[in-house]
Amino acid sequence: MVAACPTSALKVDESGGREYLVLNYGDCIACSRCIAAGSGAFRYAEKVDRCGVGKAALVRRWDIQSRTEVVQDEPALSQAAEQIRSLVGRALNIRQVDAGSCNGCEAEIVALTNPYYDLERFGIHFVASPKHADMLLVTGPVTRNMAAALKNAHDAVPSPKLVVAVGACGCGGGIFGGSHAVVGPVDAVIPVDGYIPGCPPTPKMLLTGILQVLRAFPSRSRRP
Ligand code: SF4
Ligand code: SF4
Repeated sequence: MVAACPTSALKVDESGGREYLVLNYGDCIACSRCIAAGSGAFRYAEKVDRCGVGKAALVRRWDIQSRTEVVQDEPALSQAAEQIRSLVGRALNIRQVDAGSCNGCEAEIVALTNPYYDLERFGIHFVASPKHADMLLVTGPVTRNMAAALKNAHDAVPSPKLVVAVGACGCGGGIFGGSHAVVGPVDAVIPVDGYIPGCPPTPKMLLTGILQVLRAFPSRSRRP
């Protein structure tokens, strides 16, 4: 099961004489090989609430002997429009940066603007220039060709600024992590405030993650 994982998102860790099964959502590309190899030990997650959290919160651990999860830290989230407005004030402007994505994450981000998800009803807008942005939403492993451009975009966002790394590639490098063309995940180039795992994350995960980052940094999401 662990050997079937192509990105080492699934590992067995030994500490204190005990063995732990460790799952890092940030590295998981949702290939489902662990499910196929696990003889029923794994199943598809109906939802992933660990979106927009810090990197450490992307990791889950189970004590193999007692078959219990060691840390259960699932943030309770709601997507009420009023709550979003109270967090962002009048509006949140997002500049999306593709730092080397396969475009799968972009397809889901674009879906946020369709009539079903209708992101703009919450006062959240995508903008064309980092100079007009409050938040950078960054996809892909950062390729060598895009590293300088990403750094420049980050420098151009007025402070206080927020950065969210999107997808397994943005969080940990994903399936392209070992490539010679890749510098690393987003936090190898610019500081990251929250991580949204998935390959790709669903629009709901993206929205949940953006809200979670605003909750964690309310003072930075409001301009004076
Ligand atoms: S679904 Fe995730 S944890 Fe399972 S094998 Fe694929 S990458 Fe590894
Ligand atoms: S996380 Fe998956 S969908 Fe997103 S850019 Fe990487 S490979 Fe593509």
